[in-house]
Amino acid sequence: MSLIFKIIPQPTRHTEDGQLRSCLISYTGKGVGISEKDMWFLYPSEVTLPADDDADAYALAALLPAMMARADLIIQGSVSHELLANLTELQLAWHKWCPSLYHLVNMQAHTVRETESRMSGAVVAFSGGVDAQFTAYRHAKERAGYVTQNLLAGVFVHGFDIPLSDTNGFIGAARMANEVLNDLGLRLFPVKTNLRGLWDINWEHYCGTAISSVLCGLKKYAGTGLIGSGEPYDSLVFPWGSNPISDTLCSSGDFRILHDGAGFSRSEKIRDISKWSYGTARLRVCWAGELNDRNCGCCEKCVRTRLNFIIAGVNSPDCFSGELNRHYLSSIVLRSEAAKAEWRLIRDEMIKTQIGVEFLEQVQKVIDRKASPRFGLLLPLGSNRRAWAKRAVHWWK
Ligand SMILES: [Zn+2]
Repeated sequence: MSLIFKIIPQPTRHTEDGQLRSCLISYTGKGVGISEKDMWFLYPSEVTLPADDDADAYALAALLPAMMARADLIIQGSVSHELLANLTELQLAWHKWCPSLYHLVNMQAHTVRETESRMSGAVVAFSGGVDAQFTAYRHAKERAGYVTQNLLAGVFVHGFDIPLSDTNGFIGAARMANEVLNDLGLRLFPVKTNLRGLWDINWEHYCGTAISSVLCGLKKYAGTGLIGSGEPYDSLVFPWGSNPISDTLCSSGDFRILHDGAGFSRSEKIRDISKWSYGTARLRVCWAGELNDRNCGCCEKCVRTRLNFIIAGVNSPDCFSGELNRHYLSSIVLRSEAAKAEWRLIRDEMIKTQIGVEFLEQVQKVIDRKASPRFGLLLPLGSNRRAWAKRAVHWWK
């Protein structure tokens, strides 16, 4: 008997905190007995949620963990035909990127939804960083030409970058995200979920399907979900959880995912959002501040963003206090391919524009600096242990 993930949708529960959509995932197979997980998403009370048996979000969220476990997915609910087709292709993509980690599995749904239509309007995954702000700004201000979506709201997830245990941190960060979105005439939907802690999986692989799964629960409010791009088309990094290929393959017949902004580098995005002073002042790129609502100014992400601002012609953006101290670059070690790609882009842009060249030598040293192999073993990339350690280090700084 092969291993099986059985997804059993549960009735939506209405609570004081919102509407709780959930499913049970039972894991069965030879030698492993039966274990059960409860996957839940807490949405605001005012939005209409999909039918209880609509299991698209659950299928998206369970796909990569099932592939890791070599477990077939049996879904005791309805799934969009288009999503099943896309997830079949998504499996092939992940199997090519990481053949020893993600295996091809069978998927079977109790009901396959054939004819579907999408609602008008769009929502954007929004945590206040450069990529999300750029996407929110260019669609709300109709700056994306024919690509422009009728953007209605941003969705900020509690349980992804900010752990479920950090209630105050989330409140502070969500308050700032709400102000920024309101300035664009948009509303904020905070959504809470236990998705990230459910599986032992590399978050840097899982993030795209996880955020798509959350957005897809808003399909009765808007038919399109925007995910701000990370790397631009000319510097794509694979395997990485959110990219133009895999995000698009998270679309279903009634909810489309658009990976937005890959035609622009991070410096180019910053040049654009610099025109929006209210947003720039509230840009939040790191999670080091004790209340998750300010930038520490000296971590890898902060320093990189400050260099992006310098290249964009903005030397002292309001989201950072003081000048960039060269000393900060001397201790930066890059621990992911995506971060390395970003620093290489900064180097190339400095050479091309001759702006910020006073930092060029140190930027090259950051690119060349090797991470300790022992660090990688102790704190594997994308692991919860590593995320915890990162926060602890910032706390002590
Ligand atoms: Zn920082």
